[in-house]
Amino acid sequence: AHLDRIAEVDGAVHAFLHVNTEGALAAAAKVDERIAVGEVASPLAGVPLALKDVLTTVDEPTTVGSKILENWLPPYDATVTERLRAAGVVILGKTNMDEFAMGSSTENSAYGPTRNPWDLERIPGGSGGGSSASLAAFEAPLAIGTDTGGSIRQPGAVTGTVGVKPTYGTVSRYGLVAFSSSLDQAGPCARTVLDAALLHEVIAGYDPMDSTSINEPVRPVVEAARQGATGDLKGVRVGVVREFRGEGYQQGVIDCFDAAVQQLRDLGAEVVEVSCPHFEYALGAYYLIAPSEASSNLARFDAMRYGLRVSGEGELSAEQVMSLTREAGFGPEVKRRIILGTYALSAGYYDAYYGSAQKVRTLISRDFSSAFEQVDVLVAPTTPTTAFKIGERIDDPLAMYLNDLCTIPSNLAGNAALSVPSGLAAEDGLPTGLQVMAPALADERMYRVAAAYE
Ligand code: GLN
Repeated sequence: AHLDRIAEVDGAVHAFLHVNTEGALAAAAKVDERIAVGEVASPLAGVPLALKDVLTTVDEPTTVGSKILENWLPPYDATVTERLRAAGVVILGKTNMDEFAMGSSTENSAYGPTRNPWDLERIPGGSGGGSSASLAAFEAPLAIGTDTGGSIRQPGAVTGTVGVKPTYGTVSRYGLVAFSSSLDQAGPCARTVLDAALLHEVIAGYDPMDSTSINEPVRPVVEAARQGATGDLKGVRVGVVREFRGEGYQQGVIDCFDAAVQQLRDLGAEVVEVSCPHFEYALGAYYLIAPSEASSNLARFDAMRYGLRVSGEGELSAEQVMSLTREAGFGPEVKRRIILGTYALSAGYYDAYYGSAQKVRTLISRDFSSAFEQVDVLVAPTTPTTAFKIGERIDDPLAMYLNDLCTIPSNLAGNAALSVPSGLAAEDGLPTGLQVMAPALADERMYRVAAAYE
């Protein structure tokens, strides 16, 4: 049914870069056999899923939305991919994304934009616009995204779906094509909080193949979502981040947020206002740290080892081939980030830029720590505005970067955060998202609150 739905609507939505029709049907048949002999007991066995094209798959290309990896068939499955297969989840295909996950609209994909199913003239968010759009268009019931600065939560908010960034280090990055290694985190996307929780427990867990993987038991997020669904938040302390409103925020987004906070109160939560004074510097710090790490990570696309090679005319040096290849293979946003990053890391500037950004990162972590001494979770809007029109911000990188204002602090600090639909903005009828943030390794708290609110 989902493959039929994809055939019907994906020409207009373009959520997928690759649909694995035969592979998915074969995998589904195999799951039936495994269930029959008691080999697989996961509640998600047989459930189809859309996988962001940044996670490697041995049976489908992994392009990361870039020409430099066009048609690249990875030699190994990502740990996330492996865990999905082991649980019997059926991978339908790979979803569209901003090139190397750099963007907030999916317009930076080298393969054309994804459209928001709520309004095809609008962006579905990014970088994981394909994953969230596939859910909103009912092409898949579950999807996987990755969140470096908001790429799961922001597409979730603007497509009216749930998106979760688990605590950094709890979902393996092995086989996740690196953008910014200290920030990248894969997580579940779904249409309900409980579905996201079920998927969370499949993909999370220690992995010796990832040096930043945390060796701790998986958080009991399914139980927390079930508990939350009873609609009782008595004894839960919720902090409203004071800094996330005012100039730049759409009125309808603020109204939905205020209504959500009132609903949390009605469910029994104790709501207080909390100040996080350094959050306003998060965007600036992020746009030094993420490009710095990207400039280093993307050095591996050297035209020698794998991916695109542009050999040019006549006898060229390795350096010339590398240069021609990177010129042709990377899009404008990726080049912008590499240049920003190499500049920020260069001798003489390193302390002023990269060093200062790392200090800001520490101050943001401290803001979270002192907030979480007073409250169990923090809430804020996920995005300052609803989905904007395709093309509207593509020539203005700063306007594009402002989308991530509310999501970035949790990436810098590494704590857990999710977005749950919070109704439609009055002025344009488009979805908004309530962001719920929890301390690192306390992901279950945000699931409970989001499931109660949902
Ligand atoms: N929009 C942010 C960026 O462009 C975040 C992207 C992400 O989370 N992958 O970097």
